[in-house]
Amino acid sequence: MNYQSKTILFAFLCISMLNQLYAQEQPNIILILTDDQGWADVGFNGSTDIPTPSLDKLASEGVIFSNGYVSHPYCSPSRAGLLTGRYQARFGHDCNMPYEGENDASIGTPLSEKMISEALKEQGYRTSAIGKWHVGDHPDLHPPAQGFDHWFGFPGGNMNYWGYPANPLQTIYRNGEEVSQSELSYLTDDFTDEAISFITKKEDKPFFIYLAYNAPHSPDHTTKKHLEKTKHIEYSGRNIYASMVNAVDTGIGKIDSTLVANNIKDNTIIVFLSDNGGRIEHADNRPYRGHKGMLFEGGIKVPFFINWPEKIIGNQVYDKPVISLDLYPTFLQAANIDTTKESNLDGKSLLPYISNKNKGAPHDILFWRSVGGFEYAVRKGDYKLYKSAYKNKTLLFNLKNDSYERYDISDENPEIIIKLEAAYKKWDSKNIAPGWVDPHPKNVILEEKRLQETLKKSTKGK
Ligand code: CA
Repeated sequence: MNYQSKTILFAFLCISMLNQLYAQEQPNIILILTDDQGWADVGFNGSTDIPTPSLDKLASEGVIFSNGYVSHPYCSPSRAGLLTGRYQARFGHDCNMPYEGENDASIGTPLSEKMISEALKEQGYRTSAIGKWHVGDHPDLHPPAQGFDHWFGFPGGNMNYWGYPANPLQTIYRNGEEVSQSELSYLTDDFTDEAISFITKKEDKPFFIYLAYNAPHSPDHTTKKHLEKTKHIEYSGRNIYASMVNAVDTGIGKIDSTLVANNIKDNTIIVFLSDNGGRIEHADNRPYRGHKGMLFEGGIKVPFFINWPEKIIGNQVYDKPVISLDLYPTFLQAANIDTTKESNLDGKSLLPYISNKNKGAPHDILFWRSVGGFEYAVRKGDYKLYKSAYKNKTLLFNLKNDSYERYDISDENPEIIIKLEAAYKKWDSKNIAPGWVDPHPKNVILEEKRLQETLKKSTKGK
């Protein structure tokens, strides 16, 4: 080997070593999303009937966001915001997909949006999507097209827990190939096992796993084993819902043990949140008002924590408002990636705030838009404006005195309404109309009518 070749080889080895060192410093990231789980359906937010010991342990080792929001009160749009770090109204994704979506590649989060998976993959991460997808039904919009090296799950919005393929959207795929029924047991357990298998692959690269359990979304399916821990709940069908939550908790406990056993727990970030408020049946969003689909706090405030033993001091509760959109830039900063290149993000990295380096609030103002403004909400400081289609009125609350939104103060504060409406209009002027619509407006009217009729039937006197 001549001198020149030796020099090139030496330079190559130095670069390789530096790359490896850099790669090892980057944390692994596991983003765990549950589906329709209520704010109060975890022990760390006060649940007394559903055992969630693994989530409670991870939450106590990290930072609990007690005012943690998602950017939409139901499934698909909330996921579109989470994965892109941008308000999904920016790209017209503020409705669930219509059922014929698998035939139309223009329905779903467009490929022009850069997902967190793509940003991390560019930086050398190996990336995995496991569970429910629901941000693009057409095969051209499935996880492999959005920066995921590995995919195990189903494309649509809901699925039976036994993995029986009902149609292309309710079929379990692994990297585009249909998974045989004999490989599946109970989906929550299958998703956990797939995550563990991805974690334990011996590769030098850091990993990113988007683990989107469909639990505890309907249908209410559980196993006898999981029901053992919640059969004490003698309250309608909540024992089954609770066992579905507990199955997720058991799975997360196994993932945590796997990280410990592989000596990678300290430099692995785990984030846990639900995609929207708890569903109308069996979930518990109390003390907050409302449920999935509504822009009351119960529809958009979710159980939410971050755990990263190496860099984040545990046993903290962070009470300033944060939103799911913040996770994208938080992960980029954690991985030492220059976030200025992603200047179109609406989220903010939360690392300076939870480390107390920045004592201010991550957000001066937050917005929600559902079905092109059929409903919308604005939170600025203590005030929250909610243009509610359910109540056919624009409501105003002071969350400092009334975090449960019991007292509408809109009539006494017209000037605040004007200011918040103007802020919404300005924000919305940069959004686009929904690319498609869903039956939500019709459902809202039916649901509210049912509620008012029940009240009328059951109420007497002045
Ligand atoms: Ca959901």
